[in-house]
Amino acid sequence: MINVTRTFLPPQDEYNAVLKRAWDTNWLTNRGVLVAQLETELKAYLGVSNIIAMTNGTLPLQIAIKALGLTGEIITTPFSYVATTSSIIWEGCMPVFVDIHPEYLTIDETKIEAAITPKTTAILATHVFGNPCDVEAIEAIAKKYHLKVIYDAAHCFGVTYKGLSIFNYGDVSTCSFHATKLFHTGEGGALFCNNKEWYDTFFYHHNFGHDGPLKFHGLGINAKMSEMQAAMGLALFPYLETIFIERKKVVNYYVNKLKGLNISLLKIRAQTDWNYGYFPVIFKSETELLFVEKVLNAKQIFPRRYFYPSLNTLPYMDKKEMPVSETVASRILCMPLYVGLDESELNTIIEIIKSCLK
Ligand SMILES: *Cc1c(COP(=O)(O)O)cnc(C)c1O
Repeated sequence: MINVTRTFLPPQDEYNAVLKRAWDTNWLTNRGVLVAQLETELKAYLGVSNIIAMTNGTLPLQIAIKALGLTGEIITTPFSYVATTSSIIWEGCMPVFVDIHPEYLTIDETKIEAAITPKTTAILATHVFGNPCDVEAIEAIAKKYHLKVIYDAAHCFGVTYKGLSIFNYGDVSTCSFHATKLFHTGEGGALFCNNKEWYDTFFYHHNFGHDGPLKFHGLGINAKMSEMQAAMGLALFPYLETIFIERKKVVNYYVNKLKGLNISLLKIRAQTDWNYGYFPVIFKSETELLFVEKVLNAKQIFPRRYFYPSLNTLPYMDKKEMPVSETVASRILCMPLYVGLDESELNTIIEIIKSCLK
């Protein structure tokens, strides 16, 4: 069976060797040595000044919304994983969708201003598939209207834009270390924020508001990463370069072999050093997509419809049309992409796509 992704696992003895340090200290959570080391290594590797490792990639979004005191309306993208929208609603705010760019698939910055009302407090956009939003344009709009900017950078591990980690853009960025993501801790995630004062607030929030054992800074929740999670991240570290190189090979293979077909591929923004996180193919019609998917499934190959449906059509949203996002969501299919996907498997997938499009 070939799935859209396959979790990269380090050799088990290497994971056990890291985990042994948790056994030796008899300490499994509440910021043990492994979480502390993971944070230190990630800061150096990514080139960010502040990080909080968390237990998944959704809580940092919720904590950012809560701790920044956001209320009212938050401008967001309809083309993302559901967590982007649901976090806004979960925190009692109202998502206001702005349609996406047809090629970059990120929020269309030229349509943001028209969606701003006196109730707007922030922009929460996704660097979807690791492709950066137009961060300069968004920053200019945010400055003009005094809005906060949060980036859902769940797909962005290792992505740089203009030589800087993409996590350095916006007021807050978040990442997911879920097992389906490129770098993972089983479940896990992180929050990045260059403003030290806000960072401290987020830090308190992720640990019940504790300021030492007996004092409380304010309200909080539990979003702490455990030592078992951190151990996975640390055990993966020696393999990061392999992961990027192997994924790049797979993506380039697809791109070369699919040349000339009547499909479109993701357009990566200029000056981006991308991470080869996903390989989405946009077909001419949903019928075509469904046909390709059916033939692949019959051969035990399971691409995924990332991201479907367009989030403005969620059952708990008032339906407001987002034509670009809706048409893209109906026609986009992410093809299998992971370390170890070999040429014969790739050829099978490619041949099926070709034969279906004849
Ligand atoms: C994976 C993902 C999340 C959620 O991350 P979890 O670690 O699964 O909580 C949020 N946003 C996007 C865009 C994602 O792809």
